[in-house]
Amino acid sequence: MYVVNRQAELGVLRIVLEEQYERHSIQLALLDRQARRLRSDGADLAAASALTAATRRALGDIARALHYLEQGRYGTCGGCDRDIPIEELAHRPSTRLCATCQPEPRRRTGDGCDCRR
Ligand SMILES: [Zn+2]
Repeated sequence: MYVVNRQAELGVLRIVLEEQYERHSIQLALLDRQARRLRSDGADLAAASALTAATRRALGDIARALHYLEQGRYGTCGGCDRDIPIEELAHRPSTRLCATCQPEPRRRTGDGCDCRR
């Protein structure tokens, strides 16, 4: 029963990931367009390019997660090889590591998490 439930929940996460992928693709396209405009204005591009880099990185993470889903490897921790709890996957669907194996306490940029406050 556990396995069936997990499969069903991973199915939901696939939909979440596909939506995130689409959203980030659109965001990246908009950022590219904005960057071109800023460049022609001679404006400071630092903030825009940091956001572009973060979005590109997120897009890569999501693409990899979808690839793993395809191969049935999704949701397994890359560090300890255990199943990552669904709650953690729901919080960060493109994560590759369980909470125990995370190199630093949930502070990567671009995950939209404000837990520190
Ligand atoms: Zn782990």
